[in-house]
Amino acid sequence: MADGFFLAPYAVRVENSRGRRHPEPQHPYRNDFQRDRDRVIHSRAFRRLEAKTQVFTRRYSDHFRNRLTHTIEVAQIARTIAAQLGLNVDLVEALALVHDIGHPPFGHAGEKALDAAMRRHGLFFDHNLHALRIVENFELRYAAFRGLNLTFEVREGIIKHSRDYKAAEYPQLSEYLLESQPPLEAQLIDVTDEIAYSTADLDDGYEAHLLTLEQIRAGVPVFAGFLREAEQRYSTAPEKLQFNEALRHVLDRWAGDLIRNTQALISACSPGRPRPGRADEGVRPYTISLEDVRACPQRLVGLSPEVEDERRNTKDFLYKNLYYSPTLEPEKQDAERVIAELFEVWMSQPEKLPSSYQEKAEQEPLPRIVCDYIAGMTDNYIYEQYAKYCG
Ligand code: MG
Repeated sequence: MADGFFLAPYAVRVENSRGRRHPEPQHPYRNDFQRDRDRVIHSRAFRRLEAKTQVFTRRYSDHFRNRLTHTIEVAQIARTIAAQLGLNVDLVEALALVHDIGHPPFGHAGEKALDAAMRRHGLFFDHNLHALRIVENFELRYAAFRGLNLTFEVREGIIKHSRDYKAAEYPQLSEYLLESQPPLEAQLIDVTDEIAYSTADLDDGYEAHLLTLEQIRAGVPVFAGFLREAEQRYSTAPEKLQFNEALRHVLDRWAGDLIRNTQALISACSPGRPRPGRADEGVRPYTISLEDVRACPQRLVGLSPEVEDERRNTKDFLYKNLYYSPTLEPEKQDAERVIAELFEVWMSQPEKLPSSYQEKAEQEPLPRIVCDYIAGMTDNYIYEQYAKYCG
């Protein structure tokens, strides 16, 4: 039991953390993962998430998700699931709050455009690697060192978010145990991220009138089933409230399935060492350790095949009908043009970069520095820069 939560044998225990790059004295009443969570919340990069597009720009509405509110939703869902699985909730929360911190302005379109600009100079952009640069280097809060000095487990989680890096290709990441699976706390963030945005984007897409109820009903069978129930049960309720009822049941179904299926995968992976379990509370006894999780050939946090199909189907529906919709196309092209043109402005006239970036360009290739500068910008700020230099 830690901080009121049951901690399973396979959870990361804060007292076993591999620690920080720069040793620091213990805090009297916050453990290291709680401090990491708080460091992320107090960072500038975290605050800027508020003005970065998730899917919809501010043009649509002030009550649609942005990167910050998406991040908070991921943290909420992940905390709930982590507590049920006996994972380290503090670590999960820190990982959830930091998971999108490396994203450039303009959502996916911005990421694509920045990567394309870098590739023209023989380099590339990767938001996980960029996130690591932010927390290791760009955030300046402490007199004794650069960066946030986060624990190993949080930095490892940043690097292992939604992809695997090969040690041969990324020797600079070799300290992050690239041959091992990440702890379940980090694995959870990836799946929760998918669940959170797939349901939230249906909601915002419907509110934005880019998706109709009939379209979602026809294209997302799991939603259609719950909608039918909501229409029967609340036959006189407004359509949006019936929609809400259906959507929250989809989210609940997926989160519940993730908990149950992950428990089953953990049990199946158990090497059979019996341990006093929690059968009295309806939870199967767990016997695997964090080392077993790391050594496992595949990740253990996942949806059942049936629900995974539902999630994929929903994601395909969103790609076809929302993310690639002709209505959002002009905005995406705009984003790509703004990033591409500004990138070349600073490449050809580096003296127009802020002096701190000009100094950095003495140590690293100029395209990397221009990329860092652009990636950190909010949607608003990059438009201001565009008006100033290209308008
Ligand atoms: Mg995300």
